Amino acid sequence: MLTRSSAWSALVGFVSLIGASGQSPQQASNSLIRGAVVIDGSGAAGRRADVRIGGDRIVEIGQLQPNTGEHIVDANGLALAPGFIDTHSHHDRGLDTARDAVAMVSQGVTTIVVGQDGGGSDLAAMFSRLGNRPASVNVASYAGHGAIRSRVMGKDFARHATAAEIDRMKAMLKIEMDAGALGLSTGLEYDPGIYASHEEVLALAKVAGDAGGRYISHIRSEDRWFWDAIDEVITIGRVNAMPVQVSHIKLGMHDLWGQAEKLVAVLDRARASGVQLTADVYPYSYWQSNLGVLYPKRNYSDETETAFVLAHVSLASDIIFNRFPSHPEYVGKTLAQVADMRHASPDRTLIGILAEPGGESVGIVAKGMADADVERLMQWPFSNVCSDGQSFGLHPRGFGSFAKVVGPWVRDRRLFPVEEAVRKMSSLAAANVGIASRGRIAPGYFADLVLFDAAAIADRADFGSAQAQAVGVRTVWVNGQIVFENGRTTGVFSGRPLRR
Ligand SMILES: [Zn+2]
Repeated sequence: MLTRSSAWSALVGFVSLIGASGQSPQQASNSLIRGAVVIDGSGAAGRRADVRIGGDRIVEIGQLQPNTGEHIVDANGLALAPGFIDTHSHHDRGLDTARDAVAMVSQGVTTIVVGQDGGGSDLAAMFSRLGNRPASVNVASYAGHGAIRSRVMGKDFARHATAAEIDRMKAMLKIEMDAGALGLSTGLEYDPGIYASHEEVLALAKVAGDAGGRYISHIRSEDRWFWDAIDEVITIGRVNAMPVQVSHIKLGMHDLWGQAEKLVAVLDRARASGVQLTADVYPYSYWQSNLGVLYPKRNYSDETETAFVLAHVSLASDIIFNRFPSHPEYVGKTLAQVADMRHASPDRTLIGILAEPGGESVGIVAKGMADADVERLMQWPFSNVCSDGQSFGLHPRGFGSFAKVVGPWVRDRRLFPVEEAVRKMSSLAAANVGIASRGRIAPGYFADLVLFDAAAIADRADFGSAQAQAVGVRTVWVNGQIVFENGRTTGVFSGRPLRR
């Protein structure tokens, strides 16, 4: 039975949020999701409740009665969580043509954070494009150190920048921060970031920190000089007194396997000393990149280096070609198999491929981690889930990361409770990148929501079928509107650009 007071409080809430969001009443809609198990993103235990959406916001949670004219969704005991936030995403690639972002919304992801690994520039233009022609998901972005460095140094990037060049980079970064960047991203294993001195990175990160932003980093080495690279990101957080996040944290070399406990101790010590250090992780032991990253000194013809790579970084049987324009017949094959086809040793084969035009850009997935380490790093209370994926990529992480964690890892393997998985995908993710008013089911928060079947949710993507859609997600709301239901996107593009 609808009481006068509950109708009134809903109405008051509704009217006040129309004022806050600037939406007209005609655009806004009211919905009541009834009988869900609400997992609110805080980590608290799920509880049976109803959730009212007014316009683009969550209005009320509790035992609620429908209002006249309200759209009713019967959850029938399915889990209702805050929409997931992908803090390290490359799903902006192709988003202008495939605006429904099915790779993301089919897993319950409602916000992607792009501009990663040092990419991400001209954010004012990107946000304005997204405002005029939105996608199904919200998009936030970092400003990329590599992109800025390229604009200043051009092709002459394989050296330290001069003080004058760093000053120009600072000015460009300030413009990106003013446009709404969350902070500065670096890709210090990639050109041109790999040639930046620590001082350059520290000075630029400070510009982001002074503007209230943060630092996120694909660190300088995920293998050979791993501990130094972790030190560098911690130092940036300490010296600049700013939040720092390690992107897709890894122990990416055989020599480092089994050291997750040691790494967690290093991270915890840094936090205990006051550094605002966090990380994101994707749930795969294989990474995806290009052949060039195997050689940080870019000495592709060096036999000693090649022998080292194949003995320590990734085995020839664990490197799979997934993009090879000049030899399409190699796609899907391992380096060991290609070596057999070429009647050469894996070492000679690798050197030979790298000597061909475009060799360093050949796409690979490679096993870099021990599965137990990935899981241990995912369990760290300050690491959130990310995908590092893309919609048209060849690595299953683009379509599977979130469903894989909340399904197989949580339900079947019990790595942590489902409430902790949801926290790692929502409120913690929002906090780790600085997104406000999203990532919780609480009154006043934006109505980014995912209704899923905890018994059925699972990833379907694999290395042979990287774009297979996840299963088990029933309905996804972005800013109060349904963008995905029963296995399909709805053609509603209610995502927004999220400026800091
Ligand atoms: Zn990266």
